[in-house]
Amino acid sequence: MHEMSLAVSLMEIIRQEMDRNHATRLIAARVRCGLLSNVVPEALELAFEAATRADEALDARARRVLVGAALEIETEPAVLRCTLCGREFCANERGGLFSPCPACGNQCGHKVVSGTEMYLHNLEVI
Ligand SMILES: [Zn+2]
Repeated sequence: MHEMSLAVSLMEIIRQEMDRNHATRLIAARVRCGLLSNVVPEALELAFEAATRADEALDARARRVLVGAALEIETEPAVLRCTLCGREFCANERGGLFSPCPACGNQCGHKVVSGTEMYLHNLEVI
């Protein structure tokens, strides 16, 4: 369950950003996950909720409220490069890493250009 550790690192970034901007309440956090990041959105949502509750007392002392915030997860396509012809293309949801190259049809050994990462896109705070 790597979603829990993702949620914990997400929280660290969120708390830093909130303090930097003197924000007191988190309304929503928007993250983007690459198609090949292996993040299960439902699991990340649960982990996020648990992570907001875990440090509720600490947040209260720091005058921050994170409990009740929404997590919005967007999936971004992965970009692959065909090792046979060099064409770069977007992987589709079903084929993932083995999506056929639109130029030559090759299905294996693609190099991953992007799509394995997860990052915080923006925060909605008060
Ligand atoms: Zn190709």
